[in-house]
Amino acid sequence: MKIDLSGRVALVTGGGRGIGRAIALELAASGAHVFINYVGNQATAEQTVAAIAGAEGRATAVQADVSIAEDVDRLFKQVLAIGGRLDILVNNAGITRDTLLLRMKDEDFDSVLNTNLRGVFLCTRAALRPMTKQRSGRIINISSVVGLTGNAGQANYAAAKAGIIGFTKATAREMAGRSITVNAVAPGFIETEMTAALNEATRATVLDSIPLGRFGSAAEVAAMACFLASDAAAYITGQVFAVDGGMVM
Ligand code: NAD
Repeated sequence: MKIDLSGRVALVTGGGRGIGRAIALELAASGAHVFINYVGNQATAEQTVAAIAGAEGRATAVQADVSIAEDVDRLFKQVLAIGGRLDILVNNAGITRDTLLLRMKDEDFDSVLNTNLRGVFLCTRAALRPMTKQRSGRIINISSVVGLTGNAGQANYAAAKAGIIGFTKATAREMAGRSITVNAVAPGFIETEMTAALNEATRATVLDSIPLGRFGSAAEVAAMACFLASDAAAYITGQVFAVDGGMVM
């Protein structure tokens, strides 16, 4: 299936590296002008912009912390000023602060909820303004299988990722009348810098739980996100798609 996003404007939060980078590359390869949001690492964001430009695509890097309302306001103003419209929002930015609940500090909980869930709220609300006027839009929220199953040591992260799923369904219902679709992707274990931090024993245990017998790639998550952003997915909203090698079934 050939996905054509030419003329569309997309924003990928945390798009400088990992899954967000792969999504940005895929959307740009399909013809979208992609805004790549980064919080601190301008160099990786600019590298992603350069990779897209090198492949004849269009991309722009924009700094903002998605957990801060003023930053998000500024981010969307910049996207609309430069891009002129917004068709696709991918809420990808996320962090982990893993530890067992008895040891979890308030700050570990708050920072994960603020970035992973409040960030999705702030960006989605900001995106709905132009999308409502356009009477079209695609919102893709990156959740996690951990939001479906829970995981010891990740109560904060699981709460945020499960929260994204409820948020996705509520927003999908609210916006369906405007032809704005809202879906979630729940990746399993994907090889990125986030998962590179895990030790060998944890990786071996996770591998045992994956029926397809291997970890996933960022490109495999990007393929699902790009499909959901396309016209081919016009009749799909309020859904959660696990891209996890069969971990959750
Ligand atoms: P990553 O750490 O490589 O990328 C996360 C990106 O988000 C980084 O570029 C980071 O700078 C950015 N970010 C963090 N806080 C931000 C903030 N406040 N504002 C703006 N940007 C911010 O991780 P990844 O593995 O590519 O993960 C991407 C998304 O996929 C995350 O939401 C993560 O929870 C989710 N996910 C990853 C996996 C996996 O196995 N890697 C599995 C399930 C879900």
